Parts: sequence; C-alpha cells; structure tokens
Amino acid sequence: MTQKPADNTHLAGSWIDTDTVEQFHYFMDRRELRYPCCPITGTALGYTARQCPKHPGQDLNWVPASGGATMESFVIYHQRYSPDFEPPYNVAMVALDEGPLLVTTVLVDDLAALKIGMKLVCNFEPAGRLVFLPA
Ligand SMILES: [Zn+2]
Repeated sequence: MTQKPADNTHLAGSWIDTDTVEQFHYFMDRRELRYPCCPITGTALGYTARQCPKHPGQDLNWVPASGGATMESFVIYHQRYSPDFEPPYNVAMVALDEGPLLVTTVLVDDLAALKIGMKLVCNFEPAGRLVFLPA
C-alpha cells in the first residue's frame, strides 16, 4: 500500500500517491501533460486507473505525453453550463497518441472545422488551462 504525502512540495519524478486526479492536476499546474503507466511493463493506462490491473499494489508511473492526439468524439454546447465558456463551445474526447482518452476542448476559429479523426496537439493557455489545437 502507498501512503498519501502530507503535502506536494517534495513530489517529483516517481509518484508515491495513488490519487490519479490529484496527480493529473499536480502536472497540470506545471503545464505538463502526462499519463499513467504500469511501472512494470510501461503500458499506458487510462486516466481513471488507480493501479495496473495486471500488477496491483504497484505505484503508477506518470510519463510525459508527446502532446499529439486524435479527435475521438465531440459535442458542441449552445447553452452556457460554465461561466468559463462562452457558447457555442465544444467538449471533445481525444485519444493521446500514447492511447489514453482525455476530455478537453479543441480551439478552432470555426466549429465546423471539428472532425472525428482530426490530428491535434496539446497546448496550455496563458492561464494554464489545457486545450488542444488542430495539428
Ligand atoms: Zn502492469
């Protein structure tokens, strides 16, 4: 079993915490897109993974992503569900080139340009939000 650290100030490199959401946001705060991998085989795991199903009890490794992705699916919202987004806007599910799926938004001038299968690249807005752009 792992033990949750008292604070994040000493966390670097390999992880000792199994809280996937906390780890994801730890790297987001540093503008790093990473994904969880099995520490034994290096197999990419999904963002909901708390451990490798074939190697339970092992802490996951968080590996830097290449930044490349492919549009898997998207919806366009015409109603405001968040004060942070001016409608219309898209919510997209993208597959990182390494495999894991991620829900995000794709920045385009024209929403009609969004296509399933389109190649994307990750980017961080000045305020730190992770977005994807057409590659
Ligand atoms: Zn494994």
